[in-house]
Amino acid sequence: MQQRSRRHILRTISALGGIGLGALIYRWLPRATSSATEPPPLPPAPVIVPRKAWGASPPNHTAINEYGIASSPLETNWYVYRDDLKQVYNTVAIHHSAHLLASDETMKSIQDLHMRRNGWADIGYHYGIDRDGVIYEGRNIQARGASVAGYNTGTIGVVVMGNFETDQPLEAQLTALQQMVNWLAAFYELSHLAGHGEFNSETVCPGRNLSAYLDQVALAAGLQRGISGHVPPR
Ligand SMILES: [Zn+2]
Repeated sequence: MQQRSRRHILRTISALGGIGLGALIYRWLPRATSSATEPPPLPPAPVIVPRKAWGASPPNHTAINEYGIASSPLETNWYVYRDDLKQVYNTVAIHHSAHLLASDETMKSIQDLHMRRNGWADIGYHYGIDRDGVIYEGRNIQARGASVAGYNTGTIGVVVMGNFETDQPLEAQLTALQQMVNWLAAFYELSHLAGHGEFNSETVCPGRNLSAYLDQVALAAGLQRGISGHVPPR
């Protein structure tokens, strides 16, 4: 039994029969144990640089390709999930930014591209990882991403900066990606990990040199590979 529910029972009994009775019965309630039926503890939460710190622009709800607040969970338009995100999310999609590691790319430059060139309301990805392995907050996790056409509902988008058709992912990036995926998988109770190109076959994203690591990233996080975890909008 969770400590929280023991406390809740204590409060309920105390309210009904007074503190003394509550304390007496509380002593007889089973204590929290680390039995095999309880979920394993969460992996350490990664340090995530918030939007404010990288100077994110606010979402633009008049953007031409993703505008307004969608009232139904279609695969288009900005949509804020109302359900528990553990029920909503099933897959983490891995991307590369397709700009060479040698470029001076930032979360802000990606956001500008997505908002100005793509006409989206905000940066499409939920998280970004730069060349130093620093993890950034992207689109609000409560909002559906714009990263895998036709499959955005229930998919968390993570971009690793670089062009991994030519670049090799850096050690710091792989370490950060694994930590991020481990945490997302456990926190949102995900089932699958997929590279962008597995959803949309016309793209090579996240590049062959990063794709080569995805099996081991998924395995270490306890996730299956592929897109079969996707659930279409209801
Ligand atoms: Zn991609």
